Amino acid sequence: MTQDTLLSKTPVGTRGDMIDPFGRHVSYLRVSVTDRCDFRCVYCMSEHMTFLPKRDLLSLEELDRLCSAFVDKGVKKLRITGGEPLVRKNIMWLFQALSRHLESGALEELTLTTNGSQLKKYAGDLKACGVKRINVSIDTLDEDKFKAITRWGSLPNVIEGLEAAEKAGLKVKLNAVALKGVNEHEIEDMIRFAHERGADLTFIETMPLGDIDGDRTDQYLPLSVVRARLLDTFTLKDIPYRTGGPARYVEVAETGGRLGFITPLTHNFCESCNRVRLTCTGTLYMCLGQDDAADLRAPLRASDNNELLSAAIDEAIGRKPLGHDFVIDRRSQKPAVGRHMSVTGG
Ligand code: SAM
Ligand code: SF4
Repeated sequence: MTQDTLLSKTPVGTRGDMIDPFGRHVSYLRVSVTDRCDFRCVYCMSEHMTFLPKRDLLSLEELDRLCSAFVDKGVKKLRITGGEPLVRKNIMWLFQALSRHLESGALEELTLTTNGSQLKKYAGDLKACGVKRINVSIDTLDEDKFKAITRWGSLPNVIEGLEAAEKAGLKVKLNAVALKGVNEHEIEDMIRFAHERGADLTFIETMPLGDIDGDRTDQYLPLSVVRARLLDTFTLKDIPYRTGGPARYVEVAETGGRLGFITPLTHNFCESCNRVRLTCTGTLYMCLGQDDAADLRAPLRASDNNELLSAAIDEAIGRKPLGHDFVIDRRSQKPAVGRHMSVTGG
């Protein structure tokens, strides 16, 4: 379909159904509740990050109102992320508040992406708020490498967090960024580790978001290469399984588990994008890889009812772009967008 034919089909934004100019239904909101983090992963942040002043953050009540407005407009899946969402003070209040939309049936899924550092403390509370599945990011099973990647993290603490989540009855999916020369020779072990505990594992290509201390070309490991190498050890069968995200899954015959690939660089998945991303200051990004954004804080604060907010959301969805233009090579040294993943919410 060309852009013109897609545009001519654009339905008018209606309550309960957000449809972008390319006919894609927007039913998934990811919310970065803080840009702060207790780790400093090398591909995500520089070691000495400047974070937003706390006074610029939306309150938890405002985040609840914003998320609820999106649920009202047809969002079925809400993912709380960050930065590290579980380091935001009193974050369980937000989960508790949002759980009413699960109870009413308006929301199908409330979920979380976390580095796992606080899971020992919060796994039980998350389950009690109706969270069923969580994504935990873990890039290596080697303690020293884990320290080197996260700079500030502790692998044993994250593994204990994983165990606490499993004990609480949360279904865990593991996410790992594929990093050249760092975890590329551990990938088979990570598959076995995940599948032995009944967890899916998804690999992600490193994306050019925000300035980091190093050079991304040194980190970038195309998943097409990973997949080809895995065929020496494993039998991979493409399966139609989807979780509403960009991952494409295979089943690993030898382990019986699922393995996902998120390939923003080697295979662009924008045609099926159903999501928008909200920052902790109330900025809505319609695409992870583009700079265009809409301020929702002003309409949120301008009145107690949601009319202005709802109109601002419709207007923003009406300019959701077709996709990103990520490139990582030696000629394009600058990140595709200046903000870090921790701002927009990974
Ligand atoms: N702190 C939480 C965590 O690490 O899971 C949630 C936020 S983090 C930004 C979300 C995901 O984005 C993590 O899986 C992380 O590995 C991934 N990520 C961060 N920066 C990235 C980048 N430049 N390219 C690809 N993935 C990235
Ligand atoms: Fe923190 Fe997650 Fe970024 Fe790592 S990937 S620095 S844990 S926000």
